[in-house]
Amino acid sequence: MARRSALPPVHDVAVLRARLDRAREAAAGTGLVITPGSDLRYLIGQPGGSLERLTTLVIPADGAPALVVPKLEAPGYEDLPLAELGVDVITWVDGVDPYNLVAERLSGAERVAVSDFTPALHVFGFRDALPKAEQVLAGPIVRELRMRKDAAEIEALRKAGAAIDRVHARVGEWLRPGRTEAEVGADIEAAIVEEGHTGADFVIVGSGPNGASPHHALSGRVIETGDVVVVDIGGPVAEGYNSDSTRTYAVGTPRDADVAATYAVLQEAQQAAVEAVRPGATAESIDAAARDVIAAAGFGDYFIHRTGHGIGLDVHEEPYIVAGNDLPLEPGMAFSVEPGIYQAGRWGARIEDIVVVTADGVESMNNQPHDLVVLT
Ligand code: ZN
Ligand code: ZN
Ligand code: ZN
Repeated sequence: MARRSALPPVHDVAVLRARLDRAREAAAGTGLVITPGSDLRYLIGQPGGSLERLTTLVIPADGAPALVVPKLEAPGYEDLPLAELGVDVITWVDGVDPYNLVAERLSGAERVAVSDFTPALHVFGFRDALPKAEQVLAGPIVRELRMRKDAAEIEALRKAGAAIDRVHARVGEWLRPGRTEAEVGADIEAAIVEEGHTGADFVIVGSGPNGASPHHALSGRVIETGDVVVVDIGGPVAEGYNSDSTRTYAVGTPRDADVAATYAVLQEAQQAAVEAVRPGATAESIDAAARDVIAAAGFGDYFIHRTGHGIGLDVHEEPYIVAGNDLPLEPGMAFSVEPGIYQAGRWGARIEDIVVVTADGVESMNNQPHDLVVLT
């Protein structure tokens, strides 16, 4: 049984054709092999799904692209405009070696780029069918397309951002002393769908000491008066583009006396990083803008992750906002700005917005207030 996405496909033929052409150009002579996932969705409008049977889009350096797909799963691709896109469909049945079908389409290729999240099962199959071709990752090729969002993609990110803002605006309905993180998380998950997402991709409710663990999800911990609580939530809208936003809440007056002053540093750091975003600024300079504020206040060792990650069809994608990434930002790049300060064993705080680089600055997809939200 193939996993099938519930998301509707993108059918704008002109957009998809341009993406396929640009992917081939970016590959510069390397054959591309794109298995189900976000890269496939980006290129043909549907993420597809597969387990052990091979489904893959093959884009040779010359000649028509082809979708190699098991015959029994081919109906799942029938509503795509593959003929208009010039993509041949090659079906295969059990007993046939699908890797040889890929190799025929790529015959003579010296290099084959395989999508980053292709199962090793298939990677080894391609290697055996194309023993002379060097295998490289397709991620660095496809990211050149995906990290520069067009107007429709930015509109989808705006819609996702507004939807998750509406959920944050309602968190006070559920975040109450005496309830567990899991109970609060279930209510938030339902609201993520109610407010316009097709599902929740992740729900983090990190209360008290759990807030100091950045990727804590949910637990049975009972929320107490005085807790600081990190709520980091997101998911896709129908177009496939994701939201991801964090706000930090206090259930009554925070029990730890250092919360207000520390949070003020975090808020200043997040604002400084957002204000540094503009075309030409490097990804690492945005990280530094947040980190410098936090370090100057003496909390450098408590900010234990990069400042942000790109976002689009995947929640985490290029560009990464991290020291060492000297990529100059360009209009259309979308990423999170999410510094945090984590006091192990006591409490943590994070503020996260998704921003998009504009022609002359920055637009935030998230517009909820950044203050510590004190629930009374
Ligand atoms: Zn994260
Ligand atoms: Zn997040
Ligand atoms: Zn994030």
